[in-house]
Amino acid sequence: MNTIGHLINGQLVSTAQRMQDVFNPATGEVSKQVALAPKETVEDAIAAAQAAFPAWRDTPPLKRARVMFRFKELLEQNADKICEMIGQEHGKICHDAAGELQRGIENVEFACGAPELLKGEFSKNVGPNIDSWSEFQPLGVVAGITPFNFPAMVPMWMFPLAIVCGNTFVLKPSERDPSSTLYIAQLLHEAGLPEGVLNVVNGDKEAVDVLLTDKRVQAVSFVGSTPIAEYIYATASANGKRCQALGGAKNHAIVMPDADMDNAVNQLLGAAFGSSGERCMALSVAVAVGDEAADTLVAKMQAAMKNLTVGEYSDKNNDFGPVITRAHQQKVVGYINSAEADGATVIVDGREPSISGYENGFFVGATLIDGVTPTMQSYQEEIFGPVLQVVRVATMEEAMQLINDHEYGNGTCIFTRDGEAARYFSTHIQVGMVGINVPLPVPVAYHSFGGWKRSLFGDLHAYGPDGVRFYTRRKTITQRWPSSGVREGVSFAFPS
Ligand code: NAD
Repeated sequence: MNTIGHLINGQLVSTAQRMQDVFNPATGEVSKQVALAPKETVEDAIAAAQAAFPAWRDTPPLKRARVMFRFKELLEQNADKICEMIGQEHGKICHDAAGELQRGIENVEFACGAPELLKGEFSKNVGPNIDSWSEFQPLGVVAGITPFNFPAMVPMWMFPLAIVCGNTFVLKPSERDPSSTLYIAQLLHEAGLPEGVLNVVNGDKEAVDVLLTDKRVQAVSFVGSTPIAEYIYATASANGKRCQALGGAKNHAIVMPDADMDNAVNQLLGAAFGSSGERCMALSVAVAVGDEAADTLVAKMQAAMKNLTVGEYSDKNNDFGPVITRAHQQKVVGYINSAEADGATVIVDGREPSISGYENGFFVGATLIDGVTPTMQSYQEEIFGPVLQVVRVATMEEAMQLINDHEYGNGTCIFTRDGEAARYFSTHIQVGMVGINVPLPVPVAYHSFGGWKRSLFGDLHAYGPDGVRFYTRRKTITQRWPSSGVREGVSFAFPS
């Protein structure tokens, strides 16, 4: 059996005390085992990052960026291998994995602009013969903790930018699908990254807690579920660290009566069921305004869902794959059961999909539920599966109130032909990422990604301009060189 270890100081190492099974979710079989790092291994990784920091901090940004240019090429050359690893352990279909990887590469491309991103701010003559500038200095050792659902992309939201800013990094990927993340880190070394600048430790809470409390770690980026995000933010902050912790979601799409319904249905299919609904930006609630719109939407969705195919990652014809674990499969089915028990109607039922040859896989078929109300548990909580719930309301205001009242505020979308309604929606909705006829408004790499309310703890969003701010510390320097004519005596007041 293959075992997956850690990458510390540029070397693959393994700690064999505690191991965890890694599954192929399409077959339900254990395919590998991952080592769960004990405290000492995480401390070794932090020490390696700490030792690598001074030389890396002093490496010119242009040279740091050149490593990223080579890294981008290696990612593209090895894309098929990376997507294969993602498919084997996460289960997402190869075309979906390729999309994830591409979004990750776009963050590497952004990081290639390090010399420009780190230029700082300069003001000449802020006083007589006095100049002032702000520069952005790296923090030191920073840590990233990432979820299972994007094993390539989410780590690349973090370490490329942190590293080009001059930091060194310890990454703790998801223990459920660790192979592609570890391989990507190896490619960065092949691209010329000095040893110790990026270290990867696999593990669970034990490893994470070391990163949250060790004094040498200056900042923590986290992406995962809300209860863990809240814990990470509270613990890291209490230990004096800068922290951004991105959490879970419940993303609503408002379907207005004037929407292009065929387009809305197509967009909803991909956004609700793509990647088995295991995306933090998945649209999991359609709020239909007016019964006529709701009836049309449900009828068209029901018809379109007949054509969806669920199955194994390597078959390009499949639309989406299994969910990540048996426990998660049961949890998703549990939410469908609870919605039904609470009085909603299951229009398309994915609870018992039959996938020939993959009977033991962790599959859930695409599911459509109508008549969902805000008091239902299935509405309030994140399902993270291929389940679209329809809520019926009478007005757009009512639809917006639902969204604004929800504890999560990650993404949302409105389907309409009315520009005025769309503008009103985007101005007043209490959500961090908004789409207008765009179902998954994931910001591109040169903007920043983040939700509002309990979808993000911290001030700065992930990657893009906010990422540069997160991974640097501002220092403002004011300078005067005395020369004839500007020599002054003692002053006890601010110059005016
Ligand atoms: P998770 O919270 O279970 O795990 C995320 C990370 O935290 C993993 O590395 C895991 O090992 C670690 N972890 C788990 N339990 C821990 C504990 N008790 N103490 C310390 N660390 C712990 O999340 P997941 O199931 O891997 O990912 C799915 C979740 O991530 C969903 O809620 C999804 O919405 C969210 N997500 C959010 C975003 C976003 O940008 N907001 C993006 C992707 C995923």
